[in-house]
Amino acid sequence: MRTEFDIVIAGGGLNGPALGLALAGAGLDVAVVDAAPERDRAQRGFDGRAYALALASVRLLGGIGVWDRVADQAQPIRKVVARQGRGGETGPFGLFFDAAEIEEGLLGQMLEDRFLYRALMDAMQERLTHVPATKVTGQQAMPGGIEITLSDGRTLRARLLVGADGRASGVARRAGISRSGWDYGQTALVCALEQEFPHHGTAHQVFLPGGPLAVLPLPSDRSSIVWSLGNSQAKAIASLDDDYFLAVLSPHLREITGAIALTGARFSYPLSLSLSNRYIAERVALIGDAAHGVHPIAGQGLNLGLRDVGALAECVADAARRGEDIGFDTVLDRYQGWRSFDSTTLALGMDGVNTLFSNDNPLLRAARGLGMGAVNAVPALRRHFMRSAAGLNIDPVPRLLAGKAL
Ligand SMILES: Cc1cc2nc3c(=O)[nH]c(=O)nc-3n(C[C@H](O)[C@H](O)[C@H](O)COP(=O)(O)OP(=O)(O)OC[C@H]3O[C@@H](n4cnc5c(N)ncnc54)[C@H](O)[C@@H]3O)c2cc1C
Repeated sequence: MRTEFDIVIAGGGLNGPALGLALAGAGLDVAVVDAAPERDRAQRGFDGRAYALALASVRLLGGIGVWDRVADQAQPIRKVVARQGRGGETGPFGLFFDAAEIEEGLLGQMLEDRFLYRALMDAMQERLTHVPATKVTGQQAMPGGIEITLSDGRTLRARLLVGADGRASGVARRAGISRSGWDYGQTALVCALEQEFPHHGTAHQVFLPGGPLAVLPLPSDRSSIVWSLGNSQAKAIASLDDDYFLAVLSPHLREITGAIALTGARFSYPLSLSLSNRYIAERVALIGDAAHGVHPIAGQGLNLGLRDVGALAECVADAARRGEDIGFDTVLDRYQGWRSFDSTTLALGMDGVNTLFSNDNPLLRAARGLGMGAVNAVPALRRHFMRSAAGLNIDPVPRLLAGKAL
């Protein structure tokens, strides 16, 4: 294997490969090093993970040549309904978003992790150097570049090292970048269901007293369920057998789904907030969960990561075209300035929504209902929120997220 690259990316989850493909498309020489064995994740059945991809994220996946590979497996999101729920009934006020009200005519797409991951792996094989089952274990910035040590003893050299190695990012730790955050004391119970009523592409968010319950449409009238609960309640519910679990879940869903049946295994994900205090260091940039691990309440984790991908790819590709050193401070400063405010405000906004809605205080309950009713009554506000959900309100929007060439 060659040892000299323009960019080495540590982490081949979702954001690392997406960035690698974007940069390779701009003519840069990229290696993606991933600790996980190749294709392990793509060969599994449905593991409960499915993403609500904002329209802007879908455009980016189109721009890097991945969307065409998965379009047949995706479910368009045409409507979003958010309401409070309690004792199996939903409140009178809520938010009702219909994509027909915005010119794009679509809010996003639902896609299972295994299909997206497989498409990224296939595309990487064709267009860049992929080093699976290998860890990045060391890094040393030096004049004009950075030296990267791998777990098999090899050393790579690049002008820029990107940390896409998730919430426990070793790239960030070794670069001296500290993290802030807290445990939510919540766990997300995740599964997929077959449902009696057709979903017509509608995504539901039901704010239950114990935490939010997301019901997200998948192809063939299945739904992906993400139910966030306090740890002790989640543990108790997770330990129930499948029949009992459905008996506990179905009263909350009856109005939305009718009768339900599980279509695969159930999964639990502990929830925490983990924000890097900086996104850059000497010859280093962080993207995705390595930069910001957020609450899944609005399904924004991957969407935020793909915004990083669009912004960093643009900063680096433009610098390369101008003949600048792509790992130099000025290029990285541009990236950090573009992304850190948006990610931090969105992460803390989701944290606030989770705190505000995950309780049964009667006064807050009434205020929440009235608040949602008020927003819903004003078409311009409704459209503003819809465009945010579709990822169309970033300023300036990275070219790939606007559906333009890098
Ligand atoms: C329950 C739940 C539901 C969610 N739903 C949504 C949703 O609907 N929409 C959405 O946008 N987001 C959603 N998310 C968030 C989304 O899953 C994450 O934001 C996204 O997967 C992060 O991708 P990543 O590539 O940044 O990191 P990761 O997927 O964590 O990938 C990190 C990679 O780095 C590799 N790695 C680690 N250490 C090293 C090393 N030393 N050397 C080399 N490689 C290394 C790992 O093997 C891994 O492949 C959800 C999350 C949860 C928990």
